[in-house]
Amino acid sequence: MNMNYTAEELAFRDEVRSFLEQKLPADIAAKVKRGRRMSRADHERWQQILSKQGWYATHWPEEYGGVKWSAVQKHIWDEESCRYGAPRSIPFGVNMVAPVIIKFGSEEQKQQYLPRILSGEDWWCQGYSEPGAGSDLASLKTRAVREGDHYVVNGQKTWTTLGQHANMIFCLVRTNTEVKAQEGISFLLIDMETPGVTVRPIITLDGEHEVNEVFFDNVKVPVENLVGEEDKGWTYAKYLLTYERTGLAGIGASKAALSHLKGIASRQKKNGRPLIEDPSFAQRVAQVEIDLMAAAISNLRIIASVEGGGVPGAESSMLKVRGTEIRQAITDLARRALGPYAQPFVEEELNLDYEGDFLSDQDGAPLSAQYFNMRKLSIFGGSNEIQKNIVTKMILGL
Ligand SMILES: Cc1cc2nc3c(=O)[nH]c(=O)nc-3n(C[C@H](O)[C@H](O)[C@H](O)COP(=O)(O)OP(=O)(O)OC[C@H]3O[C@@H](n4cnc5c(N)ncnc54)[C@H](O)[C@@H]3O)c2cc1C
Repeated sequence: MNMNYTAEELAFRDEVRSFLEQKLPADIAAKVKRGRRMSRADHERWQQILSKQGWYATHWPEEYGGVKWSAVQKHIWDEESCRYGAPRSIPFGVNMVAPVIIKFGSEEQKQQYLPRILSGEDWWCQGYSEPGAGSDLASLKTRAVREGDHYVVNGQKTWTTLGQHANMIFCLVRTNTEVKAQEGISFLLIDMETPGVTVRPIITLDGEHEVNEVFFDNVKVPVENLVGEEDKGWTYAKYLLTYERTGLAGIGASKAALSHLKGIASRQKKNGRPLIEDPSFAQRVAQVEIDLMAAAISNLRIIASVEGGGVPGAESSMLKVRGTEIRQAITDLARRALGPYAQPFVEEELNLDYEGDFLSDQDGAPLSAQYFNMRKLSIFGGSNEIQKNIVTKMILGL
């Protein structure tokens, strides 16, 4: 394969860089680069800028307002936007439910939801997991019983990321208990304002409100909110997961995090010298950098195969496992770089406008918070153990 960008790809990279230099708000980039707290308004502001540029819906066909980027162009966008400190788009609407609606939804659903995703009017969240159904998703129990022109939904979802902001949730619900588990599931679009929907926060280890529980108590959902056919939701759910797992390796984000780590280790002192010059610490940074370079090359190989018409299978799983292990190793080193200053945690320091004293340098609070927050990487989007099972079956034939 050719590992060098073509002249057109280099020109595209310049276009991306100049867009980011001109349009990415400095306050948002500062928050992302320093690991500060992002507000809903920050996400919405950046989304509006991307939408105006026509670069928001990178996974959609052009006829619906998408942008026709090749896999290499998407990769360039990812690398550059991480490098400049652009926030990642919240994926649930634009990158997850939209491709499902485009492929399996009715014409009315396309007309109704796609423009509202592009404009930011709707904020979607994902209602797949339940207390007894995570890795074993097909054992989900939330029930939807058809009564005339609507379904009555009862049950509970959990780990619903940013559900506190959402006005729409796409849910997997059980519509048939008589058949094999996978064959009795349907894909429903539910308005979170409907009576009987309750959202309850789950506060994570880093003190943040990122995930929620969502309860459904006799919630009436119009039948026109069913995507595709009743009981065929498992097919649509799996299609969505292929989009969810794309990009979970987070190579661009890890490169940015590694560069931040090197900055911190240059400022921190050990025995009067910069920590980055300490042989033992330098060796650990070098190891993670080598691992990241290897993962980046694997990523490029997969991108090249996609460009050549290939479909990534077990390779996405390999990349998810390695990519998330590397990111966790970087956050671990960053926390270690701060030594004892990583221990106390003043949560308010995560706000950009914080005016109190910092316990260590300004990196302290975000780095320890990130260390805890990044534990999630090996769990969500299909845990790393499950990804390893996929690799053993698909590649090793075990
Ligand atoms: C921060 C965060 C955000 C999330 N956001 C969302 C969201 O927005 N919407 C949503 O629907 N879900 C979300 N999830 C849920 C996520 O998809 C699940 O947590 C994940 O699928 C794992 O399921 P579980 O937590 O039930 O763990 P379990 O399935 O109970 O697994 C527990 C442990 O056992 C291991 N294990 C399970 N089965 C096997 C097996 N067969 N072989 C080997 N090991 C196994 C797992 O790898 C894991 O280590 C989120 C999770 C987190 C942590």
